[in-house]
This record gives sequence, structure tokens and C-alpha cells, in this order.
Amino acid sequence: MRRLGKAPLIDRLEVLPMFRWRYGLCVLPAAAWLFLLGAGDAAPREENVKPIRALLVTGGPYHDYAKQKDILSKGISVRAHVEWTIAYDPVHDLEQGKKHLNPVFEKADWAKGFDVVVHDECCSGVTDEAILARILEPHRQGLPAVVLHCGMHSYRTEGWDKGKITPWFEFTGLPSTGHGPRRPIAITFTDKDNPITKDLTDWTTGDEELYNNSMGKVLDTAHPLARGKQKVRGRDGKERTDDFVVVWTNLYKGKTRVFATTLGHTNETVADGRYLDLVTRGLLWAVDKLDEAHLKAAAK
Ligand SMILES: [Zn+2]
Repeated sequence: MRRLGKAPLIDRLEVLPMFRWRYGLCVLPAAAWLFLLGAGDAAPREENVKPIRALLVTGGPYHDYAKQKDILSKGISVRAHVEWTIAYDPVHDLEQGKKHLNPVFEKADWAKGFDVVVHDECCSGVTDEAILARILEPHRQGLPAVVLHCGMHSYRTEGWDKGKITPWFEFTGLPSTGHGPRRPIAITFTDKDNPITKDLTDWTTGDEELYNNSMGKVLDTAHPLARGKQKVRGRDGKERTDDFVVVWTNLYKGKTRVFATTLGHTNETVADGRYLDLVTRGLLWAVDKLDEAHLKAAAK
């Protein structure tokens, strides 16, 4: 018969279950401690995720890109494992800015090392077809892209306003030639089963620009995800409602994923959590990594 006084310490502590539990934890090796602290938390798993290397090409007139580059890159990195290189062109003058090529495109291998490029530039007057071919070449070979707002109205090569599907329109997936006044846009997600939009809800922006769909629809390679309605007053003084596709995806050259939205004129729109959720999910879809591992906990 064993006497309590001579029993090993761990046995004596059977009369004090809580104390024994704590005692047991005290002698756990450090690695086990780390395991227990992390159990039930997705963070350690996320830390092993290789970040997506994104290039943000931005700058030009009409928009506050000096602030929007930070709002966008930080807002996306809060939501997903994305690391940024920002190619910001500060030439903001209305005439010079729209004709100014972002210096990042001066090198033939400008896209080397990136998983995705976010085109948030505003340069309608960059119309040299050889330069445009250099910009499109990595995408032609399969590099995914996100195109935002004035990116859609950039690189207006010959025929852009005469119904021609220019090389840039072929890439974006939706020809657009102009926009209405700055008024609120009511956004309706028209495909709620798509992985990009399935957790998102419709919203109405503050004052924002509604880009037209100059051919009346997206190209055959594109798929609309949301429409925007905006009440505007026509030249006859009567109010009408414009209604255009504002969010879509495109499959460029049969293989390259492109996510696009014409929304994003004002800092207010770009900083809106609903806009950042949308663009984050579109970016992850473009690189085929719209999954739990690449979304951070805050975005789930
Ligand atoms: Zn704009």
C-alpha cells in the first residue's frame, strides 16, 4: 500500500486537479507551448504563405494618385498576403501627364519577378503602338493583371473612339470611351455565384465617375460581375439613369486572367472597405489564389 507522503509529486497532485494541469503545462517543452498557443488560430499557417509580389503602376493627371497609391496598396495588404513594388509617376500636369509614359515601362523586362500587375495609371495620350506592345507583352505571355478606373482610358491608340477593338481594349475586355459627371453610383452585383463577388454586398458610392460601355457590352472574352446605375441630367434638362457594367473579368489571349473595375475616381471610393474588398478578391482571383490561405483573417 502506498502512502501519500511517499508518492511521487505528480500522483500527490491528483487531489488538486487544476494544480496538476498547471504543473503539467509548466514542464512542457517550449515547442509544445508554441503549439498550444497557436492551436485554433490560423495565424501560424498564414505566416507560411508565400506573399504575392505585385507591381502597382500608377500616376498621371485628374486623380490623387499620390494618396491613392498608399490607400490601395496598404488596404489590400491588410486583407491579403500581397507585397508591393510601387511604380509611381508624379507627372500630374493635365497635358503633359496624360502623354507621359510611366518610367517603369522603359525596360523591356519591366515585369520580371512579379506575379501580378495592377494598372492604375492615367495616360490616354501614350499612343505609340510599339510601346503599348512592350507593355502588353508580359500579359500576352500570361502575367495576370488588375485594371482600375483611368487605366481603362489609357493607351488610346488609333481607332479607340471609332468602334475599333484596340490592343488595350482587347486586354481590358471592355471598350470605354468616356464617363458621366461625378454623382453617386448604385452598384449591383449581377453574378453573385462568382468566387470574387460571392461574399460581397451591393452598395452606393459617393460622387464617382460612371464609365460608359462604348460597344454596349463586354467583349466575348469577358464576363460581367457588376453594373452601376447613375442618375444624370441630360442636355435637354431631363434626368435619366445610365446603367453600365462596372466590374468584370477578362481572359486575355485565352490564358491571362484580368480583373477590372471602372470604379475608383475619388480617394473616398478607393478607401471604402467595400471597394478594397472587391479589388483584393479580384487580385487574388487573377493570380488564382483566392483562398483561405492568402486572405488574412480580417478579410474572411
Ligand atoms: Zn477619374
